[in-house]
Amino acid sequence: MAAGRCELGGRFRRCSRPPADTCQYCARPFCGDHAYVLEGYEAVCARPPCAARHDDLQVHHGYVRGVRLRNREGRCGVDGCANAHGFDCEKCGGRFCLGHLADRLYPATSPGEPDAMACVCAHCWGRRAIWSRA
Ligand SMILES: [Zn+2]
Ligand SMILES: [Zn+2]
Ligand SMILES: [Zn+2]
Ligand SMILES: [Zn+2]
Repeated sequence: MAAGRCELGGRFRRCSRPPADTCQYCARPFCGDHAYVLEGYEAVCARPPCAARHDDLQVHHGYVRGVRLRNREGRCGVDGCANAHGFDCEKCGGRFCLGHLADRLYPATSPGEPDAMACVCAHCWGRRAIWSRA
């Protein structure tokens, strides 16, 4: 629903331009001036939590690629770990040794969802703050 007005800008200087798209993370309409990424099917507004999610995904994709490569050789997904992998991280799907996974109370990533115990790698645990912010 990219109708109405851009919802970004300061509290007292709300932007009133027509929106160019709707943010894929916060669902707020935003104009071209308030776009962080606006290309192809990516539409991310300039709000810091949304920009952080976009940047995190770039890093995350690189991480997942590295984990898959090590897993293919039968090793734990953590760089430099010589142990065999045996367990899945519930967030990234990579495989790790038992020492590199931990059961954690992972915060809900979307509203209305409860926090839930998840068996995750250190990388995924480090991302929780970015993805639990509304
Ligand atoms: Zn947004
Ligand atoms: Zn705007
Ligand atoms: Zn993970
Ligand atoms: Zn390991």
